Amino acid sequence: MAKVKTENTASAQGQCLCGAVQFEIGIPARWAWHDHSAASRRAHGAAYATYVGCWRSRFRVTKGQTKITRFQEKATGRTRSFCSRCGTPIIYERPHAPQMVNIPRALIGGRTGREPRYHIAIAELQDWTYLGEPLVPLKGYPGVVWERPAAKKRRQVIRGQSPGFPAPDDHDE
Ligand SMILES: [Zn+2]
Repeated sequence: MAKVKTENTASAQGQCLCGAVQFEIGIPARWAWHDHSAASRRAHGAAYATYVGCWRSRFRVTKGQTKITRFQEKATGRTRSFCSRCGTPIIYERPHAPQMVNIPRALIGGRTGREPRYHIAIAELQDWTYLGEPLVPLKGYPGVVWERPAAKKRRQVIRGQSPGFPAPDDHDE
């Protein structure tokens, strides 16, 4: 994509898994971050959620507004909107920042003008999160790579404490 010169008119498009909901945000976005909190972890069914924060005035649902369902956490007042057809999280809103909407970065195909350099609730980082450890092909399973046990001391400790976890040699060549 060509370098953006007119910031107020440039946009990036995104959609849910099934495509029923489509939207666009103005770019560059306000900011972007990784959210390691339990609530976002559960809402996404993932190790953590990466959000792009946008001014509400620069976010627009271009298709499927009526397909969007909302869930509000009573304790926090935070609202999570998702596609009622496929379940994809679409919008995360927080009461303390009503002028902002937060969009899962993964829904947006192109560039957003912001790198996710910030972390929320990093203390909750799960020890099963992939952190870029070296990976090698798993013999006999095309397309599958894995982390050799010897490459990471932390995982070896966990392995020693967890009956039933695959032994270090289980999938070796
Ligand atoms: Zn959908």
